Amino acid sequence: MNAGKEPRKVERPVDPRRYVPPHIAAMEGYVPGEQPRGGPIVKLNTNENPYPPSPKVREALAAAIGDRLRLYPDPTALAFRETAAALHGVDPDMILAGNGSDDALTIVTRAFVGPGDAAAYPTPSYLLYSTLVKLQNGVERLVPFDASWRLDVDGFAQPGLKLAYLANPNSPSGTALAPAEVAGLAERLDCPLVVDEAYAEFARENCVSLVKTHPNVIVTRTFSKAYGLAGIRLGYLIADAALVRELNKVKDSYNCDALSQAAGKAALLDQAYLAETRARILASRDRLTAALRELGWTVPDSQTNFVWATDGAPAEATFQELKNRGVLVRLMRYPGHPAGLRISVGTDEEIDRLLQVLRELA
Ligand SMILES: *Cc1c(COP(=O)(O)O)cnc(C)c1O
Repeated sequence: MNAGKEPRKVERPVDPRRYVPPHIAAMEGYVPGEQPRGGPIVKLNTNENPYPPSPKVREALAAAIGDRLRLYPDPTALAFRETAAALHGVDPDMILAGNGSDDALTIVTRAFVGPGDAAAYPTPSYLLYSTLVKLQNGVERLVPFDASWRLDVDGFAQPGLKLAYLANPNSPSGTALAPAEVAGLAERLDCPLVVDEAYAEFARENCVSLVKTHPNVIVTRTFSKAYGLAGIRLGYLIADAALVRELNKVKDSYNCDALSQAAGKAALLDQAYLAETRARILASRDRLTAALRELGWTVPDSQTNFVWATDGAPAEATFQELKNRGVLVRLMRYPGHPAGLRISVGTDEEIDRLLQVLRELA
């Protein structure tokens, strides 16, 4: 013991960054959308659901709180996976649950991308893919969307690619490629293709059936958006069972807690509630889109619970003026593209407030 002794002085100042590998020290790290603490704010910046989760979720959570919390959760989330499998018409061993779909994306990246390996993703798109590839000390290959948010899938046909990501529907555009186009992309690739379907519940079509015809397709889903459970942290992926077996080696043993597993199962079982809140959000989305266009913004038709507005008033100034008046949206800048506002579809009252401020500013 050296109780009472002065800790030994370190002679020269040490930059703690020298303890981490250079590729980590050089990274910025992912910056999530702002989560304001209190204050009356209309929060339209991170695409949460404006409606609460199904009342069945509350019941399931209440039932899950009790003596059983002493015990570790099911490491494989079997009851949850069986429910998800029945919903999608796949086998439970084609599903892997994650601590949010970001965890599923992390597991996929860690499994397939090693140091120096190339991974491709479209741009502008979800910014997390870049962070995940950098963490692996991998090499990023960007495939640009064209001005009307179409993708040249030949851009993905690059030698040596180890993984490709596709947010479909895409963020920030809200647009989606048809499943046949995604199938064509999967066929061109000699590596797994993660189709990030965080917003698929709001879209006309989805790519789940491709998992059965294209064994390199991995579809990810989340409870954070359509199911109104961003605070719970649950997502899952659907893929060929042999791929899922490999991915299971990479995940943390207990990556999904008992409460999120119970909540997720209850949410999936209440598809009637999902249909109801979805219909409200789609109606509000159409109204928001029309009003923004009337105000002079360019807004692509959205297949999500947000819209992407560019080329109206200056985006930076509008973002700040909205924020000053208690309306928070997401300002996004991508190199080579006009800055834009990504606006989540809130309640009708929230949208009215947003539009009121925009009209005052116009
Ligand atoms: C919100 C979002 C996710 C992440 O969701 P979590 O399940 O909350 O981790 C993944 N991908 C895209 C494109 C998203 O917008």
